[in-house]
Amino acid sequence: MIPVTRTTLPDLEEYQIYLRKIWQSGQLTNNGALSRQLQAEVMTFLGAKNLALVSNGTLALQLVIKALGLQCEIITTPYSYVATANAILWEGCIPVFVDVDPESFCIDPHLIEAAITENTTAILATHVYGYPCDVSRIQEIADRHNLKVIYDAAHAFGVRLHGKSLLNHGDCSTLSFHATKLFHTAEGGGIVCRDTAIAERISLMSKFGHIGEDEYLDLGINAKISELHAAMGLAVLPKVTEIITARRQRSVWYDEYLSDVRLQRPKVVDGLEYNYAYYPIIFKTHQAMMAAREALKKQDIFPRRYFYPSLNTLPFLHESLRCFCPVSESLALRVLSLPLYTTLGQQDVEMISACIKNHISV
Ligand SMILES: *Cc1c(COP(=O)(O)O)cnc(C)c1O
Repeated sequence: MIPVTRTTLPDLEEYQIYLRKIWQSGQLTNNGALSRQLQAEVMTFLGAKNLALVSNGTLALQLVIKALGLQCEIITTPYSYVATANAILWEGCIPVFVDVDPESFCIDPHLIEAAITENTTAILATHVYGYPCDVSRIQEIADRHNLKVIYDAAHAFGVRLHGKSLLNHGDCSTLSFHATKLFHTAEGGGIVCRDTAIAERISLMSKFGHIGEDEYLDLGINAKISELHAAMGLAVLPKVTEIITARRQRSVWYDEYLSDVRLQRPKVVDGLEYNYAYYPIIFKTHQAMMAAREALKKQDIFPRRYFYPSLNTLPFLHESLRCFCPVSESLALRVLSLPLYTTLGQQDVEMISACIKNHISV
């Protein structure tokens, strides 16, 4: 069976070194030594000026919305994982979907201003597949209208733009360290903020807003990362560069084997150091995508429809929020993210590519 991704597990011995430390300290959670160490190491790796570690990438989004005091309407992308829209809804805000750019698949900055009303408080956009949003235009618009900017950077771990971490753009960027992501702690997440005071507030809020013995300083929730999760992160982090290199190699193989067919791929911008988090391909038609998907399934190969459905069409959305986003809706019907993980063999990439070629008209 070839799944869309396989979690990179660290060497068990490596993980056990950290587990032993937990057994020695007796501390399983509550900002223990390993989670503090992981925070410092991830911050250094990313070149981020601050980082709050939390228990997952969805709570990371929710905490940002809460800590920035966002209310009412939040302009967002329909082309992302469902968690992006759900976090907005869960926090009692209104997602206003703005369609994506047909080449970058990220929110289209040209369409943002028309969606701004007196009730708009922020723009929450996803660096989809780890490809950057148009960060400078988005910031310009946000500045003009006094809006906060949040990036769902769940796919963008380690991505750099013009030599700098992509995560330093916007007011806050959120990360997911879920087992399916490039860098993982089994479950986990993080937040990078422009303003260190906001990062500190988020960190406090993620621990019930409670410090010391008797101080309850802010409205909080439990979004703490346990020492067991931090241990996984510490064992995986030293492998990240190796993981990215291996994924790049497999992406290059796909590029080569698929070079003679007309499939759309996300456009790469200048100055991008990509992390090879995903390998999405866009078929010409929904039928072609479904045919290729069926053929691959028969060979026990399971690409995923990242991202389907377009979030503006989610069945539980209130009628009034279901605007028309033709680009995103069309992409969602034609996309497949191909298997991509460090142990995927070259012959597998060749076989997957051949199967796809058989099911599209050249
Ligand atoms: C994975 C993902 C999330 C959610 O992260 P969890 O850690 O699983 O909660 C949010 N947004 C995007 C774009 C994702 O891909």
